[in-house]
Amino acid sequence: MGIRDDILVIGLGRFGQALAETLISLGHEVMAVDSDAAACQACSQTIGHVVQADATSPDALRQVGAGEFRTAVVAIGNDIQASIMTTYALVDLGIPRIWAKAITAPHGAILQRVGAHRVVFPERDMGVRVAHTMLGRTIDYVELDDEFVLIETTVPKQLAGKLIGEAQVRSRWEVSILCVKRPGGKFTYATQDTVLNLGDLVVVFGQKRKAEAFADLD
Ligand code: ATP
Repeated sequence: MGIRDDILVIGLGRFGQALAETLISLGHEVMAVDSDAAACQACSQTIGHVVQADATSPDALRQVGAGEFRTAVVAIGNDIQASIMTTYALVDLGIPRIWAKAITAPHGAILQRVGAHRVVFPERDMGVRVAHTMLGRTIDYVELDDEFVLIETTVPKQLAGKLIGEAQVRSRWEVSILCVKRPGGKFTYATQDTVLNLGDLVVVFGQKRKAEAFADLD
């Protein structure tokens, strides 16, 4: 049996479909599986390799060659039983990298216990991200783990015209400005000698409360 570098995506709801189409746009081969004929039909043009099968069935998974994949994503959310059974079947097949979508914390804990290597919470994470972008000067907000975040924000007025080193961003706010984007330009790596101008975008890395406080400066 050969080992395949393409990615197995199970479940073609909005999350699974967007994931599969993005992987394809990034140059990866994808095989998608969904038990629903209409869901398969709807994605057959954009995803190409779509198979209708019940992924909770180990036999069905074997028949579609699921055991040959190195990476699989379980994108079933609402049917928690199907999500857990599918994840368990993929673990049993020995797939070395299994990602699974969870809709609640207990669901995620069970997926992890069953053997998923990475559990994602798209609805929860997007809620957190959107809430932050509604406040202050935050444009984008990414939680890297429980402690650290990346925030895209604008330059606060009090730092306009200053060098990053001169403004003592690291010691005063305990955050690092990683890169800066001038209006109409591209992001470039920031150094101590980078000038911060009003209207520039910056990406800030730091502990949650510290980075949020920086993004809230006037
Ligand atoms: P999303 O929030 O991503 O739009 P959804 O809420 O529409 O998802 P989910 O219950 O998360 O629905 O299911 C996603 C997809 O998984 C659906 O297209 C569904 O047909 C498919 N699915 C559910 N159970 C199975 C299964 N046992 N085998 C294969 N696919 C399944």
